[in-house]
Amino acid sequence: MPPTSPQRPESFDAVVVGAGFAGLYALHRLRGLGLKVRVYEAAGGVGGTWWWNRYPGCRCDVESLEYSYGFSPELEQEWVWTERYASQPEILAYLEHVADRFDLRRDIRLETRVESARFDEARGLWRVRTEDGGEAQARWCVMATGCLSSPNTPDLPGAERFKGRVLHTGRWPHEGVDFAGRRVAVIGTGSSAIQAIPLIAEQAARLHVFQRTASYTVPARNRPLAPEEQRKVKADYRAFREGARRQLAAFYMDPRDQSALEASPEARRQVFEARWAAGGARFGASFRDLLTDPEANRTAADFIRDKIAGAVRDPRTAALLQPRQPFACKRVCLDTGYYETFNRPNVTLVDAAADPIQGLGETGLRTAAGEYEVDDVVLATGFDAMTGALSRIDIRGRGGRTLNQAWAAGPRAYLGLMSAGFPNLFLITGPGSPSVLTNMVVSIEQHVDFVAGCIGHLAGRGLDVIEASEAAQDAWIEHVGEVAATTLYPGCNSWYLGANVPGKPRVFMPYIGFPAYAARCEEVAARGYEGFALGRTGAEAQPA
Ligand code: FAD
Ligand code: NAP
Repeated sequence: MPPTSPQRPESFDAVVVGAGFAGLYALHRLRGLGLKVRVYEAAGGVGGTWWWNRYPGCRCDVESLEYSYGFSPELEQEWVWTERYASQPEILAYLEHVADRFDLRRDIRLETRVESARFDEARGLWRVRTEDGGEAQARWCVMATGCLSSPNTPDLPGAERFKGRVLHTGRWPHEGVDFAGRRVAVIGTGSSAIQAIPLIAEQAARLHVFQRTASYTVPARNRPLAPEEQRKVKADYRAFREGARRQLAAFYMDPRDQSALEASPEARRQVFEARWAAGGARFGASFRDLLTDPEANRTAADFIRDKIAGAVRDPRTAALLQPRQPFACKRVCLDTGYYETFNRPNVTLVDAAADPIQGLGETGLRTAAGEYEVDDVVLATGFDAMTGALSRIDIRGRGGRTLNQAWAAGPRAYLGLMSAGFPNLFLITGPGSPSVLTNMVVSIEQHVDFVAGCIGHLAGRGLDVIEASEAAQDAWIEHVGEVAATTLYPGCNSWYLGANVPGKPRVFMPYIGFPAYAARCEEVAARGYEGFALGRTGAEAQPA
């Protein structure tokens, strides 16, 4: 469709930015309210994360039966997951199926990046401009732009001279990448790298892994999903979903209510061994105080460090792979054969903390100590998380103030849903909500349902403006920080704190605890959207 002239913006009730899990569900739900909706998506297809991240080994680490929408019982019943942890192609196929099944595509403009969104105060409308010169106006603007959608790419001086390929895991070529016979460098050892490295190592002639910080990783123990297992869940999917929503991270971790320090060393080891053997994130819930008590935390860290020493033959490499930061204060990864990969003769671990990467030359990667000749560089360097995609849009609220100005000292949003001064602008899984510390599909559905409920509430009262109050926002941000301070999370340089992006303010962004958060949202809604001001365009807004 040709872009509309800037003088004549297309009119919608709602504009949604992004067509991943969040944008697709937002479109479906808002349509259900009778709204005319337009979705803009920068990618060439729907799926968000699962459209962009196509690196070898990419899959979810929340089990497939949980990492899926719960809004449609029919969809739940008809879709068949083939593995405990679905692969990227399977999740993408699922989201494409959702787009077709709910007839979503006709309202989605692909390959259309939103560059600005400005609030027209007089008319109470958001004016959204796209890079192709198009413009739309809408009462509601929903940012479903993703927490992990804006790649973090390190500055590599000399990159323009490098003759090989530079690839980012979050922008992987669709035609796939053949590493056969190539000398490859992987930069980073977070979740993406840990999934990709064992598979790249099988193909490449040589693989150098540049590690700045070692991660804790637990075996995924991925396997085909037994039909019986699937049948059992499908027999009462509602109860299964409701149970998940009662879990701290909105998926089943099977938490044990015992302190790691109460158990004898032998009993403790047995618990860790059993969870290590079962595989998956439940290892992190082996004891109740792993994330709150440094001593308890050390027991889990020591257990994994022992496992690494047992798995990796070269003692120097094993020592380097042993993480030093507290267990789980950076995201714990799940892997398939990661540590064992370092026993391969074609794989070398490089200590990029001791010998930092300085840039690229024509034929390789430069560090202070020398040059590594490589054909391909894989950046598994993560994302400008939680705020990156929003900060790249010129968002202007009341008085022309930009979101970047309002968030200069760190993101500020009430419930992670709305930022004061930006009426009618909803953030799906925004900073200050449980988001990345949960099964994100559950958090996305909870947010979209809240937004739909809120718009329905306003419409039923002849109102059309809602805005977070500064006071409620301040109190919420303080609360998010207080909860984080009861844990070991803020104690290391994680992307939860923005520490992976140079110059980004250090603020712990996600809210810890889905059940308490969801209960708070319900309470806020039941009290007529407490903490928000509600109003009608042209009239003074009233506190709820
Ligand atoms: P996204 O899927 O990121 O979609 C946002 C979309 O917005 C993108 O397609 C982007 O192109 C688009 N967009 C952004 N800015 C603009 C703009 N200005 N204009 C137009 N379009 C724009 N979470 C889990 O809970 N469990 C997992 O196992 C898990 N595995 C993951 C694995 C990987 C490799 C990654 C990177 C993330 C993983 N996550 C996981 C987190 C994952 O991001 C979420 O689960 C979920 O897919 C997010 O959906 P979303 O729609 O909110 O955002
Ligand atoms: P990440 O966890 O942020 O890891 C990035 C890695 O790159 C880190 O090891 C980091 O080191 C390193 N790095 C960054 N810049 C560097 C530099 N200049 N020099 C050397 N090393 C550098 O990113 P990710 O692995 O893409 O994962 C991001 C998030 O996406 C995950 O935490 C998870 O939420 C999600 N994800 C999930 C899965 C899954 O299993 N389902 C898979 C992939 C991603 P430092 O730690 O020292 O900064």
